[in-house]
Amino acid sequence: GLADRLQKTMQKIRGKGKVTEADVKEMMREVRLALLYADVNLKVVKDFIKKVSERAVGQEVMKSLTPGQQVIKVVKEELTELMGGEQSKIAVSPKPPTVIMMVGLQGAGKTTTTGKLANLLRKNYNRKPLLVAADIYRPAAINQLQTLGKQLTMPVFSLGDQVSPVEIAAKAIEHAKAEHHDYVLIDTAGRLHIDENLMDELKNIKEAVKPDEIFLVVDAMTGQDAVNVATSFNDQLGITGVILTKLDGDTRGGAALSIRAVTGKPIKFVGMGEKMDALEPFHPERMASRILGMGDVLSLIEKAQANVDEEKARELEKKMRSASLTLDDFLDQLSQVRNMGPLDDLIKMLPGANKIKGLNNLKIDEKQIAHVEAIIRSMTKEEKEHPEIINASRRKRIAKGSGRTVPEVNRLLKQFEEMKKMMKQMNNMTKKGKKKGGFK
Ligand code: GDP
Ligand code: MG
Repeated sequence: GLADRLQKTMQKIRGKGKVTEADVKEMMREVRLALLYADVNLKVVKDFIKKVSERAVGQEVMKSLTPGQQVIKVVKEELTELMGGEQSKIAVSPKPPTVIMMVGLQGAGKTTTTGKLANLLRKNYNRKPLLVAADIYRPAAINQLQTLGKQLTMPVFSLGDQVSPVEIAAKAIEHAKAEHHDYVLIDTAGRLHIDENLMDELKNIKEAVKPDEIFLVVDAMTGQDAVNVATSFNDQLGITGVILTKLDGDTRGGAALSIRAVTGKPIKFVGMGEKMDALEPFHPERMASRILGMGDVLSLIEKAQANVDEEKARELEKKMRSASLTLDDFLDQLSQVRNMGPLDDLIKMLPGANKIKGLNNLKIDEKQIAHVEAIIRSMTKEEKEHPEIINASRRKRIAKGSGRTVPEVNRLLKQFEEMKKMMKQMNNMTKKGKKKGGFK
């Protein structure tokens, strides 16, 4: 990870008593790349680097640490600090019910998170929440919340889609008082983009029910956009906290850091899946590690760049993009990869590598590469270019020609398919990084 790389950078100055400016500068170059790659806002990165540099330079190196470890410690501490410590507390109104408004763009995960939050309030705090269906625009939005309510055996307040959201919210609170609910969770409507109508409606609801919390639900996968969304909602509505959803995906997590730094509002919870129990308190140290862990991607890319013949790499990239990777390319790729070191190690560096389906089957024994080569060389040109035509009788012929078995041929074809899929994922990831100017 980045931490290892920083260690290495610092190894040559092991034994020095102080961390010098030049040392820190070299390390900060890596930190900067990792943060940008993790999709952290550029200004946030600049401020961060400045702060860490100031703190790190001239520091006495603790006896138990190397200078490298010392700087990493500072980086981690500052990242954690920037994300605001753990903030999973939820307001409790002295005059129940406590009212929570859920806001955010369409598809961010408001309705799902409303259910999850109610579940968490009941399970962890023994509360009795009322869910309120105030999204009257999205078709089936009310239904969606009612389904979640049934699933959780929790009541859902709805007045259909002909009553205004403001009135629904106000009536819901009356209902909650009468039924002794101590929390009211209002699921509001979203739009694809921020617009005035949406904001006006939310402001009216806010005015009518005076919520104790306004949680902005943001999709972590939207990266830098999440920061803009958070800024608008905070400026126009005034939010009290952020819930970051879809962190179970391959997101790089930089949004978490930027949102907190730019709005000053804490991230309270993170969504880790679609199920009703997939809501967790936000752990800044964990997020710091996730962001720093992105250094792996950089080292993977650098490693690849150092070892792969440039022109070939470009050609390969083009092919991957058009998804026309052939078995000949695969063979080529195998020998290139062999030059980079053990394949298993390379694969481990991919973010979310554990989530890529079939990756376990991709483990290629170095000794078997020769067999793989033999198999591919026994194929016709047409077969190499269109492996889908390789039927049972062709498999038999290829096995015979290469002195291998049919199951080995099958396995190779499967591996090739998986490799193609993985390349596609890597390719998407790389494209995204380039577009954002995250690394070069
Ligand atoms: P809304 O339009 O803001 O109300 O969004 P929804 O609650 O309808 O969610 C949109 C989609 O995102 C649904 O398919 C949810 O299941 C999914 N979703 C919400 N939160 C998460 C999460 O934390 N992880 C994953 N993987 N999916 C989520
Ligand atoms: Mg919804």
